[in-house]
Amino acid sequence: MVELSLKVKENSQKFLKKYVLDEGLCTGCGACVSICPYQVIYRDRTVQLHQCDLQDGNCSAFCPRTPADPAALRKMLFESADLTPEIGAVKGYYFSRAADPELRATAQHGATVTVLLELALSEGLIDSAVVSTRNQEFLQEGVIVNNTEAIRKNTGSKFTVSPTVAAFNRLVTKEAGNVGVVATPCQALALAKMRISKTEEFENKIKQLKLVIGLYCGWTLSVEKYTKLLLDKNITPESIRKMDIPAGKNVLEIFTDDGAKAIPFEEVQACVRDACQYCMDSTAEYADVSVGSARFAGSWEEVRQWNQLIVRTEKGKALVDLAVKKGVLEVRTAPEESLNELKAAAVNKKKNALKNIIRKSGSVKNLLYLDSRDPAVLKYLTKEVFNKKVK
Ligand SMILES: Cc1cc2nc3c(=O)[nH]c(=O)nc-3n(C[C@H](O)[C@H](O)[C@H](O)COP(=O)(O)OP(=O)(O)OC[C@H]3O[C@@H](n4cnc5c(N)ncnc54)[C@H](O)[C@@H]3O)c2cc1C
Ligand code: SF4
Ligand code: SF4
Repeated sequence: MVELSLKVKENSQKFLKKYVLDEGLCTGCGACVSICPYQVIYRDRTVQLHQCDLQDGNCSAFCPRTPADPAALRKMLFESADLTPEIGAVKGYYFSRAADPELRATAQHGATVTVLLELALSEGLIDSAVVSTRNQEFLQEGVIVNNTEAIRKNTGSKFTVSPTVAAFNRLVTKEAGNVGVVATPCQALALAKMRISKTEEFENKIKQLKLVIGLYCGWTLSVEKYTKLLLDKNITPESIRKMDIPAGKNVLEIFTDDGAKAIPFEEVQACVRDACQYCMDSTAEYADVSVGSARFAGSWEEVRQWNQLIVRTEKGKALVDLAVKKGVLEVRTAPEESLNELKAAAVNKKKNALKNIIRKSGSVKNLLYLDSRDPAVLKYLTKEVFNKKVK
């Protein structure tokens, strides 16, 4: 068992290999990629092509699965009065959707992400955005976009991992201007670690990051396992137009060129990436705003056209307020019980992650990449967590 204090001192590529890649903790976020020639993504795996002896490498410093200083990150990004242990900073919590029904029809849920990105661009808050796109091999990759057409071409959720932060590293040049990024929780954490790192060579690039739109995230799927599952069900990956997880139905719905199909949830869950078992964040706690699917009583056809929206920073608030004022986003106050449900689900994910981490490390004293002194971790280190083993 390696003490946390020893781990923190090392920011090397060797450390990344030993404690993240070899331990199966890599989330595939891409933060260690495209900052040196030795770290690459192969399909949905992060691979080291060559060893480097640098003792103070950004690859390890930016990785969301190496120890961080969460208190410093929260202090840098949020107002302390807004912080909650369950879901991070909350300035406001709403149900939201694009006012334009045509846009909603092309997006995953209410198109809140797309509306906010488009507005940030048109108002000059950002000059370009990094979003996720599906390439010809049915894999995700980050892409930089700077107009409505390109943003709309990439709406919708893809449930395999996107190395979006690698695209941020590679594509955000001086010419890209100010940038917004759509990020899953692990990607948002990597971007927050970049912001705090004060690395000289990265300083200008990170200054260009003006907006992080976070996505709620329960898991991503292993490309290999998921592709096999699809083929077993006679679904060709290229035929997929949209996927969703309808509330209360226990299936993954897949809309293809040949019509809609449903895969039982247990079969999908068997494809979840191992690294997601150790993830504490379901709502992208390090973003300016976070967006997920709405949950309220009503037909799924109605519910699926709405998002849950957490506003976390002043910047996020200004953007949402402007979207409402301009009439492009409809917002309604979400009831208290929705927030409580969201918090309960978030706590559940945190506790499961902690149980899995302890099971993996074999000791409650070794929380792998987490810091047991962090109040947001300590709060969930209950007897129930370290006595019970979960899968
Ligand atoms: C892997 C994954 C897991 C999710 N899990 C949950 C969950 O458990 N609960 C929940 O409420 N919501 C979850 N979401 C969020 C939800 O699916 C929607 O993204 C969210 O509700 C926003 O809807 P929208 O209509 O505003 O999005 P849109 O306006 O359609 O915009 C979606 C944006 O997400 C980007 N994107 C798509 N796939 C990825 C990806 N793999 N990685 C990074 N960016 C991507 C697109 O480029 C686009 O910019 C998940 C999303 C993803 C990608
Ligand atoms: S930075 Fe991201 S892609 Fe690289 S090892 Fe860490 S989790 Fe994996
Ligand atoms: S569950 Fe966590 S680790 Fe997995 S993709 Fe989502 S944010 Fe990343």
